[in-house]
Amino acid sequence: MIPTNLKTLYDIKNLENKKVLLRVDYNVPLEGNIVKDDTRIVESLATIKYLLNHNCKISMISHLGRPDGKRDEKYSLKPVYNRFLEILKKEKINVSTKFYDEIENNQDDVQIKFYENTRFYYGDEICDENFSQTLFKLGEIFVNDAFSLIHREHASNYGVAMLMPTYCGFLIEKELRAFQKLENPVKPYIAIMGGAKISDKLKIIKNLIEKVDYILIGGAMAFTFLKAYGLNVGKSPVEEDMIKECEFLLATKKIILPIDFVGQEKFEDIKGKNFDCKNFPDNYLGLDIGKKSIDLFKEFIKSAHTIFWNGPMGVFEFENYNKATLKIAKMIAKNKMCHSVVGGGDSVYAINKLKLEKGFSWISTGGGASLKLVSGSNLKVLDTFNKDVKE
Ligand code: AMP
Repeated sequence: MIPTNLKTLYDIKNLENKKVLLRVDYNVPLEGNIVKDDTRIVESLATIKYLLNHNCKISMISHLGRPDGKRDEKYSLKPVYNRFLEILKKEKINVSTKFYDEIENNQDDVQIKFYENTRFYYGDEICDENFSQTLFKLGEIFVNDAFSLIHREHASNYGVAMLMPTYCGFLIEKELRAFQKLENPVKPYIAIMGGAKISDKLKIIKNLIEKVDYILIGGAMAFTFLKAYGLNVGKSPVEEDMIKECEFLLATKKIILPIDFVGQEKFEDIKGKNFDCKNFPDNYLGLDIGKKSIDLFKEFIKSAHTIFWNGPMGVFEFENYNKATLKIAKMIAKNKMCHSVVGGGDSVYAINKLKLEKGFSWISTGGGASLKLVSGSNLKVLDTFNKDVKE
């Protein structure tokens, strides 16, 4: 269960002029020094603006990539800081800012202190007490807005939170609200799951099956279900050790499988042949769900009042096999009466590619974190917003 009574920015007493340690997730894709997607920076602005409006001094911390506890310029947050400055300028937010190579307390009179990558420090990922103490010195209160990290207990989002009054930022609050609606869904509730492996998503599917009316399965994980159903799937990948689990899930009568595929003899981006699942050619691999399956899924999507989607319907990276994923994105966006939540890289990419963002109720900024929420896992980071605070 996602806790509902979390301490948010509105619960902070005497916020005016406070020194705030703010954890954001600016782990954004970079090409050289260019930020390729600044969504996470833009999404953090609401919290930053609110704190600035209360004349707070903000110390910002984030990680970037996996430098494994060592300083490595490839993972420097400096280019991200530069993009952050451009965004502030565009938003007409006039504040003094400074970038710091080292994470240590200082007396500079700057409104926003932007610190270098927390993962340049070995102590971050292992949630080291000393590193948490270093971070603790950067503020009087801690605001965590790094949603995509709520399933990890690191010093910079958990260790430090255990030491000081902690509140969740607007982004985490909005994310949790969207996922809370999935816990008490307006029916019919349809989940659409795709991607590579059933073993990766078994816990999620098992948790979802209790709440949904149907789960539509696409992607490579459909083959293990089809095999469990007794069908031949040619050369398509099957997880033999998951067959029993799939049989159990099929018995719930809530699993809807594809009825046709587009595929090829090789795993290559060349035009495919369409075939029904009942006549799956022995020497073929299914690379995308077919037209009849899309039409079948459309009937469920059209009438749903709640939808959760994660994972592509086919090998989305291949131009010849991205059609179903793109069509699913369009079909969900077309259903204006449903609460639609999307979590996970390829599905989000499909939505962005088609510029369908407005057609979705919520597009999560954290793939792994959103799946943990949907799987019903208890996340310790969320408990940090709940503990008693002494200020
Ligand atoms: P996931 O990270 O579990 O969401 O899986 C995404 C991956 O699943 C993508 O890289 C897709 O190429 C892959 N995938 C989806 N459908 C298929 C398929 N029919 N055969 C092989 N890989 C697939």
